[in-house]
Amino acid sequence: MKKRILVTGGAGFLGSHLCERLLKEGHEVICVDNFFTGNKQNVFHLLKNPYFEIIRHDVCFPLYLEVDEIYNLACPASPIHYQHDPVQTVKTSVHGAINMLGLAKRLNIKIFQASTSEVYGDPAVHPQKESYFGNVNPIGIRSCYDESKRCAETLFFDYNRQFSIPIKVARIFNTYGPRMHPNDGRVVSNFIVQALKEEDLTVYGDGTQTRSFCYVDDLIDGFILFMNSDLNLLGPINLGNPVEFTMIELAEMVLKMTKSKKSKITFKDLPQDDPKQRKPDITQAKNHLNWNPKIKLEEGLEKTIKYFKNLL
Ligand code: NAD
Ligand code: UDP
Repeated sequence: MKKRILVTGGAGFLGSHLCERLLKEGHEVICVDNFFTGNKQNVFHLLKNPYFEIIRHDVCFPLYLEVDEIYNLACPASPIHYQHDPVQTVKTSVHGAINMLGLAKRLNIKIFQASTSEVYGDPAVHPQKESYFGNVNPIGIRSCYDESKRCAETLFFDYNRQFSIPIKVARIFNTYGPRMHPNDGRVVSNFIVQALKEEDLTVYGDGTQTRSFCYVDDLIDGFILFMNSDLNLLGPINLGNPVEFTMIELAEMVLKMTKSKKSKITFKDLPQDDPKQRKPDITQAKNHLNWNPKIKLEEGLEKTIKYFKNLL
């Protein structure tokens, strides 16, 4: 059935891929974005589709629309962007969640929340299962993001308990791919851009910290499967690729794949509260959604390197 679907943060990295997928599936899409980190270029190719619409709007303010479903993605996601204006980050996550939940309540419709593995903080449990409450510093430089995303989860579950709003809360782990912002400071984009410019790759700390990287197409499959799953499946549910790499391993892989001639690895200070390890336990997503990421890091990096080569 054709639906009219609202995607907040739709001009961002993940949002633009989601809008594209929903249009491909025959839906009507309204993309709401204030273009803080996203840009029109990301959705330029969708503008010719008569079923696609963009609204410039800040989710910190109420929004009145008639839609059938909401995906709430609006929020800067990379550390340098969310730390640029930490108060605005908290407002976006918390006021944004209240406003979008208010819209879902008025229309009595399903709403998806893009939560994050950051709710686990610097995890003392490895790999991270949804039942783990996390290890988050409430007053550090990452807290504006981590704590406001945790508060947004609370709001989603309270709106569900109090007003019976159908919710879908996904905890997204590090995702990469074309349309990542070249200057957002995230490790995959940083390393690729540095290698393509023949600059040194900046590894923070000693590079033994780990992350697990999911290619964007796999993640979007997970979003759609989760949104369309049984209404009783509220989440939170981990979505990410469970194959874990150290930052050194990633740097070496990028150097090899870009065939960089001059770039070397250099070491910089580790930012405060940088999680030492991260890897999702995706048993729930496998069992309930039959979802399992298919794209290996090498294959995904190849597509991402190609994208950045064209961009630069
Ligand atoms: P992104 O920065 O590319 O996209 C975020 C979008 O939200 C941008 O288009 C931005 O302009 C928009 N936005 C920010 N503040 C807004 C506001 N107040 N009102 C309206 N729009 C606003 O980041 P992304 O990687 O695409 O992340 C999308 C969502 O997924 C975020 O909520 C993020 O927390 C979550 N997430 C992403 C990752 C990842 O690895 N990419 C991991 C965990 C969670
Ligand atoms: N990182 C790095 N060099 C960079 C950028 C990031 O070594 O140029 C490290 C960072 O310290 C962290 C990991 O890579 O340990 C992932 O960082 P990112 O900002 O991509 O995501 P997050 O820390 O939010 O998982």
